[in-house]
Amino acid sequence: MSSTLITNIGTLVTNDPSHPGLLGLLEKAAVVLDGSVVTWTGSAADAPAADEVVDAQGRALLPGFVDSHAHLVFAGDRTAEFNARMSGQAYSAGGIRTTVAATRAASDAELDANLARFVREALHQGTTTIECKSGYGLTVADEARALRIAATHTPETTYLGAHVVAPEFAADPAAYVDLVTGEMLDACAPHARWVDVFCENGAFDGDQARAVLTAGMERGLIPRVHANQLSHGPGVQLAVELGAASADHCTHLTDADVAALAGSATVATLLPGAEFSTRAAYPDARRLLDAGATVALSTDCNPGSSFTSSMAFCIAVAVREMGMTPDEAVHAATAGGARALRRTDVGRIAPGARADLLLLDAPSPVHLAYRPGVPLTAGVWQAGVRVR
Ligand SMILES: [Zn+2]
Repeated sequence: MSSTLITNIGTLVTNDPSHPGLLGLLEKAAVVLDGSVVTWTGSAADAPAADEVVDAQGRALLPGFVDSHAHLVFAGDRTAEFNARMSGQAYSAGGIRTTVAATRAASDAELDANLARFVREALHQGTTTIECKSGYGLTVADEARALRIAATHTPETTYLGAHVVAPEFAADPAAYVDLVTGEMLDACAPHARWVDVFCENGAFDGDQARAVLTAGMERGLIPRVHANQLSHGPGVQLAVELGAASADHCTHLTDADVAALAGSATVATLLPGAEFSTRAAYPDARRLLDAGATVALSTDCNPGSSFTSSMAFCIAVAVREMGMTPDEAVHAATAGGARALRRTDVGRIAPGARADLLLLDAPSPVHLAYRPGVPLTAGVWQAGVRVR
């Protein structure tokens, strides 16, 4: 093991409540890493010696982004669908089936290479923890294969056999739910940490979603829910009732939904890339934050409705369009994502935390929203290893 001192940090975002503000900011700061973990934070003037020294030259240092919602095991491309939608057609959940056909036809090696490319793309933008769902196979073998491949890239794997009803079961959705809660679950559970369901008109209703989530929970998976994206519905209430780690999208919420989230440990994960890419109204982050809910920001990276891996983009949109302050958006993209994945080792910079760090080519984290679209990544460490 060798230690690294990163010093002359202009602004250090710790997300440590013992330091000032929502982001636990330290000015003129330093961080020491030893092996894969952070061992010291404080004033640069007080920093201990280390084997190696990195001069941050006044730049900001943040925890690596925690992207708690992505769909990266797929093949093919939906450029034409996006182009058509931006030319006036409405988005519906059925477009997922296009990717299902391409994914089933792809080899394991193709899926693995595609996933590796997107994980690397995200990592080089500062995303050091990323969740990855199945959901483009929709057969026992294809869902299990997606999760087996995903598990070689991230521990945060999510069984989403209930993404849409498989095309073969269009006439008998109940039989598909039986498959998802039975044989498919048996094949997928060994490769997954989480169970998820797309609870929406055109996908799965409240009773079906409950059956999927409770079956997964009985197999030791932890629930998270695609909830209230395209319309009001039972997803958020179900997520809270079952103690889900996160209700994701939360675009169409009643006052009762907001109150339920605020009164629970279920994180509201907002995915502005989806509204951006479907030209839909954004979720109201301000309403959730003012009510006391915990908010996370994630990319929803997928080829249909949100083909971005950029957490910085999501931060900028959340600040511009969703009523979040720059500090709230940065917190949601780091500590919020960690909460949504029930992780305490990431999303913060403090002694004992994993050394996942993003060095910005800017003096302040505010620049993530202040300089939209500008690449600001000056360095990335993942578990203490400098990867960029
Ligand atoms: Zn999603």
